Formats: sequence, C-alpha cells, structure tokens
Amino acid sequence: MTATVPAGNIAANLREVRARVEKAAAAAGRKAADVTLIAVTKTHDTAAIEAAIAAGHLTFGENRVQEAKAKYPALKAAHPKLDLHLVGPLQSNKARDAVALFDAIHTLDRDGLAEAIGAEIKRAARAVKLFVQVNTGEEPQKAGIAPRETLGFIDKCRATHGLNIAGLMCIPPVDEEPSPHFALLLKLARDAALSELSMGMSGDYETAIGFGATHVRVGTAIFGSRA
Ligand SMILES: *Cc1c(COP(=O)(O)O)cnc(C)c1O
Repeated sequence: MTATVPAGNIAANLREVRARVEKAAAAAGRKAADVTLIAVTKTHDTAAIEAAIAAGHLTFGENRVQEAKAKYPALKAAHPKLDLHLVGPLQSNKARDAVALFDAIHTLDRDGLAEAIGAEIKRAARAVKLFVQVNTGEEPQKAGIAPRETLGFIDKCRATHGLNIAGLMCIPPVDEEPSPHFALLLKLARDAALSELSMGMSGDYETAIGFGATHVRVGTAIFGSRA
C-alpha cells in the first residue's frame, strides 16, 4: 500500500472532484446533494484516508474485504460516521465479514450470494444498503447479472431472500463509450422502480451524473494512480 499523493493534494483533489460533481449535477438539472461521492481507497494506505477525512470526507469504497478489514475497523472506531462501501466482487464465504464491516455492498449479482447476505443481515440485524451489479456489456469475464435477468433476480432477492435492494451498479467495458451502459442501467432501474444508481469512475463520473448516477466511485482523481 502506498500513499501516492501528498495529503495537501488529496484535499485539493477532493475539492476539484466535488466542484465537478456540482457542475455536472447542475448541468443535468439535479442537486449535487443527490450524488454521493465514494472515495475509492484500494491500494492506498491509512495516511491517505486520514487526509481525506481531515478534508471533511467520510464516504469511502474498497474492492476487497481482506484489505478493508486491515484498514477500516480502526478508522471506523475513530470516526463513527464513516460510511464504507464494498465496490468489488464478494465471495459468499466472506458475506459475514462484509456485512459486519460495510454499510453498503455494490456487487450483489447471484443467488448464492443473495442467500448468504440475507442470512447475515438477519443474524447481525444490520442495515446494509444493497446494489445489484449488472454486466451491461455482457462481458464473459466480468461480474454482474445479465441485463435480461436483472428484473427477475431483483424479485427473487426480495421474495426469497428478504433483501431490500436500493439500486443498480455497473462497470462499463474499459474500451467502450460508457454512455450507452449508463443509459441501460438507468432504464433497468426505472423498470425495477429502484431509485439509486452506482455508476461513474474517475474517467466518466460527470457523464454518469448526466444519466442519473446517485453514487459515483472515484479513486484515481482523488488519491492518484495505483501502483
Ligand atoms: C477501483 C474502482 C473504482 C475507482 O476507479 P478509478 O478509475 O480509480 O476512479 C471504481 N469502481 C470500482 C468497482 C473499482 O474497483
């Protein structure tokens, strides 16, 4: 884990990203307050996260349970309002750790995982915000449920596993224009009567806000490039 950007720059980068979020929201006729900026800290050390907290930021994302367990319990104890989001793939056997540590999980994409998360939420009596990840590009190697199976999966999450689904999440293919993927996620969310959309990363979060993103996941633009 490396701190690639000095603390002062992290504060300045956060100001810049927040300003761009506000501009993109205004351009879309939306309120910036309706867009949650998730600062994605994977590979970055606690000093970098502390710098963001000192700059007034409390919403963070990690893509691996193990890495989050190493970094966040102490930070959460010191900053009780810290809001932690899992944005990477989750194995069912890590559902207990994930439900204990994270306030939101963005990568629910299969029945076995829905069952495991449902059982843990019940057992721990914890409120965890859940997003269903959709593989909008239908890439064989990528996580996420196929677009045509999304509505059925959401119904099953509710009816069979007792889960309250907040919204949808996607990661567009790296080599494609993201807009059609954001548009597809918005359409699926409307069809499912879901109001939250997790989409947009450092390179395309302003575009995503134009398509209704309520959660943008930004790492590099805040913390610098990853080793
Ligand atoms: C790493 C990661 C991000 C942040 O990516 P940047 O391009 O560094 O902003 C967003 N979403 C997910 C799922 C990630 O794994």
